[in-house]
Amino acid sequence: MADSVYSNYPPHLNPAQKEFLVRTIKDWTVQHGLMIRPAPTFISKESDPQGVVATSAPVTLFPSPFPKSCFEEAQALQTVYNQLYAAITCDEQWIGDIMEDLIDVDDFISHLWKVHLAVKEEGYAQTLSLGLYRSDYMPHVPSASTPPSLKQVEFNTISSSFGGLSCLVASLHTELLNSPPGHPIAYPSHPLLDSNQPPENTSVETLAAGLAAAHTAYGASKSSPALPTCVLFVVQENERNVFDQLALSRQLTKVHKVPVFRLLSSEVFDHTHIPASNPSRPLVYRPPHADGVEFEVTTVYLRCFYTPTDYKSERDWEARTHLERSAAIKCPTVLNQLAGCKVVQQVLAEDKGLDHLAKFLAGTDPTTIERLRATFAPQHDLSSNGRGRELALNAATAANHVLKPQREGGGNNIYKEAIPEFLRSLPETEWKRWILMELIQPPVEAKNVALRPDGEVLGGHVIGELGIYGTILWDQAGGKVLHNEQGGWLMRTKAKDVNEGGVATGFSSLDSVVLH
Ligand code: ADP
Ligand code: MG
Repeated sequence: MADSVYSNYPPHLNPAQKEFLVRTIKDWTVQHGLMIRPAPTFISKESDPQGVVATSAPVTLFPSPFPKSCFEEAQALQTVYNQLYAAITCDEQWIGDIMEDLIDVDDFISHLWKVHLAVKEEGYAQTLSLGLYRSDYMPHVPSASTPPSLKQVEFNTISSSFGGLSCLVASLHTELLNSPPGHPIAYPSHPLLDSNQPPENTSVETLAAGLAAAHTAYGASKSSPALPTCVLFVVQENERNVFDQLALSRQLTKVHKVPVFRLLSSEVFDHTHIPASNPSRPLVYRPPHADGVEFEVTTVYLRCFYTPTDYKSERDWEARTHLERSAAIKCPTVLNQLAGCKVVQQVLAEDKGLDHLAKFLAGTDPTTIERLRATFAPQHDLSSNGRGRELALNAATAANHVLKPQREGGGNNIYKEAIPEFLRSLPETEWKRWILMELIQPPVEAKNVALRPDGEVLGGHVIGELGIYGTILWDQAGGKVLHNEQGGWLMRTKAKDVNEGGVATGFSSLDSVVLH
């Protein structure tokens, strides 16, 4: 039976075993930097006025079983997905046609589109574009007798997070599994654990290598006189997931010998400028801590600007435009960010989507395109004569769906029975902001135990979501691909009765996998 592997997993821990395992994990996370800054609801500003406290990231005590065939398929398809999203980004007209419907109802999308148009009008100073992507999946097991198939939850083209921590969770679980043979120290004996361990996880190496490829491809300084070059991480204020990002910058600096700086999105204009006299438009960064020293930014890596709250005023939109019009390679460009909209995924999943895939993946063999298409769950728009409306407004069919807006970062979706009433509460003109997606049905018997950031240990039925990282560097002018890699993965696990996912939003815990 497909899910029998889950039925007596994870092995039972008696109180002493549990105490030992939790203590070991708490210490390991701190020792290795598997950490986050605490939520203010957990440690208030008054208790930590200097902001010195960090706490263990939420992690599962055990790796989760995951179907090997699905894991391998997800890895095998990643470079094809990279190529697909690069090709979509190269087709401005195609994206524009899709955005057209959204622009009058979605202020955020409309703003992004305007940034693109403004820079297009002036002329882009950089044609190279970098994607650090994560494709998220669940194994779909509609009945106990069906073998699991791989279904995509979403494809992320901006601020794909947790690569810096996910490999640490794999190391943690691997270490716990590698007690001396026959002497189970951390985990009680279990067939899934006894001679198994998580697959290699190269998330940090892969993501940093993508950034390094862009840095190299940028070439020599365009400033006169020439400036030393650097990569710039543009980040949110009060970022709690800072150690994830630091793992990537540390790798870039240590292994690739690339200087990396972090800059708050609200301070872009304070510390960067584009010399008006230089038609190449280099982005010059002046670190506030290094008197008078200037760097030219080869690559802007955005870990911000993906959600409306990152744009507090018009000045933030100007800052985004400023970065976009510079000669720095953007990860991502506005167009590449827009290509990651849920509506794009919905359009690709339609019956007619095959034509789009064939166009964007011209030269890829049809079997591979079919395999990629097989990872799509059914998705619909909510146009007046469409099937989507019918499914969304009927309580019985809505129960098998999720309603998604064009947003990233978690906490935005409407689930199941809540869909009909929610839609009816909106003017019909706004319905086109949303897409309807059939729910993926992960294995029902999966269980795990999580150590939450406040120290609580919670066990029960869970849903796991696997992300595969991929990086691609391409030339928007002509579409030539200079670098295309997959590598590294993320497993996030949440309690089964929770609809939303997301570690940063507090719903999920970081996990790893043992393949079966
Ligand atoms: P976001 O951009 O907010 O991360 P997602 O599409 O990833 O949006 O949705 C958030 C969460 O909702 C996912 O992590 C997953 O737990 C759940 N979810 C989304 N789509 C589906 C689906 N089709 N089936 C089951 N769960 C889903
Ligand atoms: Mg998501």
